Amino acid sequence: MIQFHQLSTAEVLGKLETDTRGLDEDKVLRRRRQYGWNELPNPDRRPLWKGLVKQFRNLFVIILLLAAVISYAMDHILDVYVILVVVLANATIGFIHEVRADMAIRSLQGMFVPRARAIRGGKLIPLAARDLVPGDIIVLEEGEGVPADARIIESSNLRTIEASLTGESLPVSKQEAPLPTETPLAERKNMVWKGTFVAGGYALAVVCGTGLDTAIGNIAESLSTIRPKKANFQKKTDRLARQMAFLAIFSTMMLFLTAYFLRSFSLEELLSISIAAMVSAIPEGLPAVLSIVLAIGSKRMSRKQAVIRDLNSVETLGSVSTIITDKTGTLTQNKLTVKKISVAGLDEFELSGEGWFPAGNFHQQQAVVNPADYPTLCKLLQIAACSNNATVRHDAQQDTYELLGDPTEGALLVMARKAGVAAKQDNDSVKLDDLPFDSKRKLRATLTKDGTDTELLVVGAPEQLLARSHHLLTPQGVMPLEKTHISAIQQKISEWSGEALRVIGMAYREMTSDMDVIDENRIDTLVFTGVVGMIDPARPEARGAVVRCRQAGIRVIMATGDHINTAIAIAKLTGIISGQQHHPVALTEQQLTLLDGQEFDDAIRTVDVFARLTPAMKLRIAERIQAMGQLVAMTGDGVNDAPALKQADVGIAMGVMGTDVARDAARVVLADDNFATIVNAVEEGRIVFANARHTSFFLITTNVAEIVTLITFIAMGYPIPLTAIQILWLNLVTDGVGDIALATEKGHGDELEAKPIPKKEPIMNGEVIPFLVIISPLMAILCLVVYFSFIGHGLAKARTAVFVTMALTQLFNLLNMRSLKKTVFEIGYFTNTYINIALVASLIIQVTIIELPIFQRIFDFRSITFVEFMLLAALSSLVLWAGEFYKFVRGHLPKY
Ligand code: ADP
Ligand code: MG
Repeated sequence: MIQFHQLSTAEVLGKLETDTRGLDEDKVLRRRRQYGWNELPNPDRRPLWKGLVKQFRNLFVIILLLAAVISYAMDHILDVYVILVVVLANATIGFIHEVRADMAIRSLQGMFVPRARAIRGGKLIPLAARDLVPGDIIVLEEGEGVPADARIIESSNLRTIEASLTGESLPVSKQEAPLPTETPLAERKNMVWKGTFVAGGYALAVVCGTGLDTAIGNIAESLSTIRPKKANFQKKTDRLARQMAFLAIFSTMMLFLTAYFLRSFSLEELLSISIAAMVSAIPEGLPAVLSIVLAIGSKRMSRKQAVIRDLNSVETLGSVSTIITDKTGTLTQNKLTVKKISVAGLDEFELSGEGWFPAGNFHQQQAVVNPADYPTLCKLLQIAACSNNATVRHDAQQDTYELLGDPTEGALLVMARKAGVAAKQDNDSVKLDDLPFDSKRKLRATLTKDGTDTELLVVGAPEQLLARSHHLLTPQGVMPLEKTHISAIQQKISEWSGEALRVIGMAYREMTSDMDVIDENRIDTLVFTGVVGMIDPARPEARGAVVRCRQAGIRVIMATGDHINTAIAIAKLTGIISGQQHHPVALTEQQLTLLDGQEFDDAIRTVDVFARLTPAMKLRIAERIQAMGQLVAMTGDGVNDAPALKQADVGIAMGVMGTDVARDAARVVLADDNFATIVNAVEEGRIVFANARHTSFFLITTNVAEIVTLITFIAMGYPIPLTAIQILWLNLVTDGVGDIALATEKGHGDELEAKPIPKKEPIMNGEVIPFLVIISPLMAILCLVVYFSFIGHGLAKARTAVFVTMALTQLFNLLNMRSLKKTVFEIGYFTNTYINIALVASLIIQVTIIELPIFQRIFDFRSITFVEFMLLAALSSLVLWAGEFYKFVRGHLPKY
C-alpha cells in the first residue's frame, strides 16, 4: 500500500495519474471497474435470513411451538399442523412487512445520500459520494462529510472532526506538507478520512482510497457489531408482549383448572382444549402488527416532509413535550433581503427589491441616490461582496434567481449587486484566504490582495465586530472608535432588531503584505465600517403551528444565535411569546452564564427565548430540560449542533440548510426545514401510539372474550362451544385481518388536543378495562344465547352458529377499536378503507369456509341460511352498540 502522507502533493498526483483538473469520464469508468463503488457494506443491512429468523424469536412463537410439541406428544397431528400454519403464516406476514418497511426507510434515506463535490474534466460537479474513484479531486468545506480517504493538495484552515475514527473529540487541523513515513494515522495531518467531518475551512484533496480500501473500511467489521441501545418504543412493546403472554397463560390455566375440577374430561381432551385456548389467547400477530404501525407512521411523516432515520423515533415523537427550535429558516423563511444600511456620518440608506433578484434602488429620505457617490458605503458593499461564499445564479429558462450557499451571505451579495459592485469572481482583488462563518465565533473573514494592498475583510454579528474594532470609518476618514460612536451603533442595532431585522456588521483591517493566511487571533483592531439590516420574514404557517403546540401541551423554546431583539420580534410574530408576559421574556448566553445551577434551572423553566447562543449552551439547555423530566425534540443545522442533536430525545436536522454532520446525528430530517413540519410529525407520532394501543386492545378484548366464553361453557357443564381447530382458525384469520386494518387508522383530528404521551406510558393501560368489562362478557353471553337457540339442530350446527357469532362480534369490535373516545358515527364509517376491505374480506372468507363442502368437512360445519346469518349479524352488532354507547356516555359525563 502506498503511504500517501509521506509524498509531496505533486508525487501523489503523479502516483494516482491525475492532476488538479481532475479525471475525465473515461478514466473514471475504468477505475470504477477496477476499484468498484465507493461504499461500505451497510452495517444495519441485515442479511435476509436473519430477518426471517427474528420472526421466530419471540415469546409468542416459543409458547406456540411448545403447544405444538405437546399436541404432537398427544398424537393430535391436526392441531400440530394448524399451530404450525399459524406460526408460519404470521412469520411470513411479519417478515414481508419488515422487509417492506426496511426498504421504505432505505429509500427515504436515499434522499439524503452522502454527497461530494469533485473536479472532473476541469469542472466542479456535485455527485454522490459512492461515485468517487481514486484519483478524483474533491473539494471540502465546513459541514461536509469527507467522502473518501484523500490526500490534501491545497487547504486553508481546514479542521476535521475525526471522533468516529480516532475517538479524538477536538477538531484536528490539517495542512498539505508531506510527513515522515512512520506518522501514525491519527497524526497524518495531510490526509482526510472517509466518515469524518469538516468542522471548518476549505481544502482541495485527491482521493486515494475508496470503499473498503479506506481507514474506516478496514474497521467496518468491528463497527457493525456495535448495537444501538433499545429504543423507548422497543421497551414498551416488549412489556406489552410480556403482559399479553402472561394474560394468555393465566387464562389458559383458569380454563384448565375449571375444566379439571368441574368436569370429567379425559386428560387428552383437556389438554387439547387448553392448547387451543392458549393458541387463541396468544396474540402472535402483535409484533408484526406493531412494526406495521411504525412503518405506516413513518411513511405518513415522510409525506408530510419529515423523514425518519430511525423507525422507533416515530413513536418517540408522540411523547415530545418540549421543542427547542432555532429561528433562522425554521421559524423564518430564510429568504433574506437587506432593507437598511447604516454607515457613520450619513443618513440611513434604504434598499428596495425582494429576494435574490439583484435589482433595486438605494434611497435616502425617500429619494433615490447613487451609491457610488458615497465612498464609505462603497467600502461596506465591497466588504459584503468579497467576504462572501454565496453565489446567486440566474436560471435563464425560468428567469428566476437561485441561491447557492448561505442565505445571509446571499442577501449581502444581492445588496452589493444592486449597487453594481462587482461580484467576487470578477473582482481584480485576489482572495488569499477565507475563514467561513462559524456560529461560535459569529463572524466570517476573508483575506484579499489588491495589487500590493493586503486587507482582512470581516462580516459578522455587529457586537462581535465592535468588540474587535478600534477605529471607525467615516466620510472624513478613519477615526478612533469612541464610546459615543459605539452607543450610537448599539442604538441602531437594537432599534433594527426590534423590527425583526437581522443585523450584520462589516469591518476591515489593513495587513502587512507578507501575510497570506488568516490568523484567527489577529481578527482585531478592525476599522468598523457599518451595519446592514436584513429582513427574514416569519413563515406564514409558523404561528399556527406554535398555537397547535400549545394546545398539545408542548412547550416551544426558541434558541438562536441571532440578536436578542430580533429573536424577541420573531418570537412575538410567531406567538412564542405573547404581548403581556412575565419578565424577562428572553435571555442571552451572556446572561445565562452568570446564573448558578438553581437560577439557571429557574430561568430555563420560564423563559422561552434564548439569543446569541453558542451550540454548547444549546446543549446545556437541552440537558437541563431533560433533567426536568421533559422529552425534548431539538432542531439544528450546523456542525456544532451535532452534540445537541444527539443529546436530544429526538434530534431534528434541516434537510435544506443542514450539514451532513447534523443530518447524521439526527433521528429526523425535515425535508422543508419548516417548524410546522415538526408539529405535523408529532401529531403522526401520537397517532402511531394510539394505533398501537387500539390494535392491542382489539386483540386483548377478543382473546379474553374467547377464553371467557370457553370457561363459561365448561363451568356450566355444556359441551365446548367451539372445536380446537375452529378456535385456531378464528384466531388466525379474524384477528390477523383485523389488526392489520387497525394499524392503518388515520388520526381523528384530536390527537393534538391532549397532553403529550408520558415517556413511560405503557401501551396497555387501564383504559382497556371498561372495554374488557363490557365487551368480552357480552361476547360470551351472545355465544351462550346463540348456542341455546341452535342446539335443537344438533351440536355441530350450534357450534357453527357460535363460530359465526364469534367472528362477527370480532368484526364489530374492530369498529369499536378505531378510537377509544370517538364513536364510529363521529369518525365516519368510510374514513378507513382498509377496515372496510378487512370487514368484507373477512365475511367472504367465513362464509366460504362454512359453506364449501371441503372446509365443512375439515371444520365440521353445517350450512347456515341467509336469514340465520342476518339474525346472527344483528345480534353480534350489539357489541358495536355497547362499545359506542360507552364512549358516548363517557364523552358526555361531567369531567371531575
Ligand atoms: P441563527 O441561525 O440561530 O439565527 P447563527 O448562529 O446562524 O444564528 O447566526 C448568529 C449571528 O451571526 C447572526 O445574527 C448574524 O449576525 C451573524 N451571521 C450569521 N450568518 C452569517 C454569515 N454567513 N456571515 C456573517 N455573519 C453571519
Ligand atoms: Mg444560522
